[in-house]
Amino acid sequence: MFSSKGSGTPNQPHIAVFPCAGIGHLTPFLRLASILLSQNCEVTLITAKPTVSLSESMNISFFLSTHPEVKHVEFQVLPSEPHNSTDDPFFLQFEAVRRSMHLLLPLLSDLSPPLSAIFSDFVVASAVHQIAADLGLPQYILITTSATFFSLMAYLPNMIYDPAKFSSLLAEVEIPGLTPVPVSSIPPPMFTPNHLFTSIILTNIRAFQEVKGILMNTFHWFEPEALSFLNNYKALGSFPPVLPVGPLVPYELGGEQSQYLEWLDNQPTESVVYVSFGSRTSISKEQMIELGDALDRSEYRFLWVIKGRKVDYDDKESLEDLVSHSFLERTKNRGMVVKGWVKQQEILAHPAIGGFVSHCGWNSVTEAAQRGIPVLAWPLHGDQRVNADVVEKAGFGTSERSWGWMGQRLVKQDEIQRKIDELMRDEKLRSRAKKVGEEGKKAGNTGGSSEKVIMEVIELLKQNM
Ligand code: UDP
Ligand code: UDP
Ligand code: UDP
Repeated sequence: MFSSKGSGTPNQPHIAVFPCAGIGHLTPFLRLASILLSQNCEVTLITAKPTVSLSESMNISFFLSTHPEVKHVEFQVLPSEPHNSTDDPFFLQFEAVRRSMHLLLPLLSDLSPPLSAIFSDFVVASAVHQIAADLGLPQYILITTSATFFSLMAYLPNMIYDPAKFSSLLAEVEIPGLTPVPVSSIPPPMFTPNHLFTSIILTNIRAFQEVKGILMNTFHWFEPEALSFLNNYKALGSFPPVLPVGPLVPYELGGEQSQYLEWLDNQPTESVVYVSFGSRTSISKEQMIELGDALDRSEYRFLWVIKGRKVDYDDKESLEDLVSHSFLERTKNRGMVVKGWVKQQEILAHPAIGGFVSHCGWNSVTEAAQRGIPVLAWPLHGDQRVNADVVEKAGFGTSERSWGWMGQRLVKQDEIQRKIDELMRDEKLRSRAKKVGEEGKKAGNTGGSSEKVIMEVIELLKQNM
């Protein structure tokens, strides 16, 4: 953790941080904000109202109550409009925030002290650029995915309209300077230029010529190839410097002791498999039954976090509507099932955790990397398969490509059980994960490379004040 030196010292930069939508985007911005405060910066947090999920508004409120020196600019976004390629509420919110950007400008122009910079989300980079230009402010982007997936996004304009280079019929996609990317790792919507997922990437990558720097939640040891590709490859045109500031360390959550943490306190060291698919992914009921049966048959203890719906506001079913009473009874001495928000960073820091079955949202990956926890990667959407490839390449995780994307096929209990047993038994994986944890701590803790890069950015901003 970075030590707090207090904030608001005169002549320190005043930085607006602007995550767009979704916990996976909010979390790294709040972590960065907390680090900026520890370096004496003034921080304004910009958020869109209403948030898509309850967990976003809860995390924002908690952060503001524990960091009272942060100013909050909340702006009302226009209602989201339907799109013919997706009904994903988070993606529709990216668009709604973009369309509402003119409402933000007046809220930023008379902040006191005046802003020195805006650090914004990639998915609204282009629209924020217009505001930054109007206010005469430097813009930085914080990337919320891996450097490897971001490399693919950055290179997309060079290949998307050329089927010889980029097609779902190829076995792999060649990007000079990178290990070829298996087509099965590329999210299917990326092959369709009109899909919202893809059009957002294309629009925002074009804005990159003008931004001052790209902050990446990764570290050199973890993704050397992608970082070197992004910093050196000429085909990207005049690309701004890529600045690895990860793994972004979590800020303290505090609060009461939760039941699942008390339960973990009573389990032997490294004995528990932690299963979670992040904040916005719910697997089908049939898939939950197979996963439950796999956990039941496996000899390992487990902590399983269940989500019934993509958006928590809609998640009204009780735990027993989703997993059977007999399953809960049978496994009660060995397992714990939780429905609702958990403090994942505290779970992963707990000595009882021995393995993590994860969808490989990038925050979950960086948290596992900091804690040296072996991962069974079960990517389901978007950037997650490429992130899973990063995990495997770093040597602290395993996955099964034949499981496919979300809903492509039902993954059977014996397949899952086999992989869980492998995850928990593989000593080589465990010792490699410890090495990843050491490197992650070296980069992310006080005095590490992440802090140095952030201090350099702050220094640059000071010179221009
Ligand atoms: N998270 C949490 N509790 C939950 C669900 C998620 O603390 O019940 C945190 C998790 O630790 C991570 C973030 O929310 O920091 C989720 O981001 P990630 O990129 O892993 O996945 P996403 O939710 O965006 O798919
Ligand atoms: N992304 C993007 N355009 C989109 C959607 C996503 O560039 O339209 C990128 C974005 O940087 C994001 C990553 O792909 O971090 C994964 O998307 P998602 O919103 O699912 O992020 P997560 O919540 O899983 O971190
Ligand atoms: N997506 C993503 N991360 C997620 C959920 C979805 O990157 O956590 C991507 C995924 O590639 C999907 C696209 O966003 O194709 C749009 O979501 P949609 O609602 O169409 O997919 P669904 O949820 O129906 O699978």
